Amino acid sequence: MTSQKTIAILGAGESGVGAAILAKSKGFKVFVSDKGQITPGYSKILNEYHIPFEEGKHSEERILEAIEVIKSPGIPDTIPLIKKLNDLNIPVISEIEFAGRYSDAKMICITGSNGKTTTALLIYHMLKKAGVNVGLAGNIGHSLARQVAEKNHSHYVVELSSFQLDGMKQFKANIAILMNITPDHLDRYDYKMEKYIDSKFRIIQNQTENDAFIFCQDDEIIRKELNQISIQVQKHPFSIYECLPKGASLKNDELLIKNENIDLNMKQNELSLKGKHNTYNSMAAGIAGSILGIHKEIIRESLSDFEGVEHRLEKVPSICEIDFFNDSKATNINSTWYALESMTNETVWIVGGTDKGNDYSELMDLVKEKVIAIVCLGVDNSKIHKAFDGVIDTIVDTKSMHDAVKKAYELANDEATVLLSPACASFDLFKNYEDRGDQFKEEVQKL
Ligand code: ADP
Repeated sequence: MTSQKTIAILGAGESGVGAAILAKSKGFKVFVSDKGQITPGYSKILNEYHIPFEEGKHSEERILEAIEVIKSPGIPDTIPLIKKLNDLNIPVISEIEFAGRYSDAKMICITGSNGKTTTALLIYHMLKKAGVNVGLAGNIGHSLARQVAEKNHSHYVVELSSFQLDGMKQFKANIAILMNITPDHLDRYDYKMEKYIDSKFRIIQNQTENDAFIFCQDDEIIRKELNQISIQVQKHPFSIYECLPKGASLKNDELLIKNENIDLNMKQNELSLKGKHNTYNSMAAGIAGSILGIHKEIIRESLSDFEGVEHRLEKVPSICEIDFFNDSKATNINSTWYALESMTNETVWIVGGTDKGNDYSELMDLVKEKVIAIVCLGVDNSKIHKAFDGVIDTIVDTKSMHDAVKKAYELANDEATVLLSPACASFDLFKNYEDRGDQFKEEVQKL
């Protein structure tokens, strides 16, 4: 009987607690184990649902009783407990995989190194506007599992990181979207790019000829990979350089989306999100909407009135003459490349933090073209100096957001734009990227 079977859940964050609620509702015995401290909000929920849990340890004897283990994406496969589970052939899956088993809803899944959240929210905005009964899940919103247990959505927009994809086996996306692949999180993939690429391509696993795959045709890594594999799925590429017969393209500053459902064109400057990267995001969202049969006027309207996402090239209101952009979520070189590329004015660039193996030379041309001064904001700024000393005359070091904004403001001299786009993680000086972005906005307000 299913009621006798135990599901163990490792990690009591949003996904773990959601998985616990769903597993319990399906009649499993559930045990949640978190090696760290559980946020009070989540332990309260577990108590409310009468789900047993532990914190500060993993009690192996209880976890090894399980027929299946649902692991938080934050826990690496290399820890001894996961190795032991693998040795004992106890399946270790992700919350998304588990939730997928109990839902018939249409799954619109987005992955990529950058642009996942923006594209997911754009599609969610579009579907809401169209009156679709849609849920937002994965890295954003509430966990898919909890929504599957408690809501009755007909569609889900699911943002998937490579770590979530790694724990997915039978799950199928009805619409899979792959924004781009650039080096990130390689520490979790033995520093092997191929492993990271394989992980991202799991987004199309199990898809059939009735499903859709939306991807960036301009991404060399994606193109190369697609040349090597054979897939049955309906392909919908998007490109800003090539004019494509099917998918999305740019022609004379117009965005075109074409497939059997739609023939839409709209001026690029009508898109609410600016910058090349956001044109890609808008293209992907527009194609997804068209595949779902959303009326083209709604697609057009959604792409032009979407308000953007906090900490992603977010314009900060200020009483000064100059513009301030908060791009705190730019934690790798590629996202910062697009931020710098979007700048239309001379720029004072605030950069730095915990380096994840950055190669700053990729930014060299844009920095030479647009940046008049660099404000380093990190504990160790040596790599930034090494890359740009002698290239940019003014490079200053700061160790707090207060000093960084003050310095940047002085250097902008009432003319240049100030861009916070760190290309690094935030943990050396801040709690997380949100904290870094919030502090930036507060300091701008204080000027
Ligand atoms: P993710 O969820 O993949 O981290 P976000 O939408 O949160 O992506 O954006 C993260 C960072 O990447 C921000 O700095 C944002 O401006 C930038 N960005 C957004 N879309 C893209 C894209 N398509 N390509 C490259 N960078 C992007």
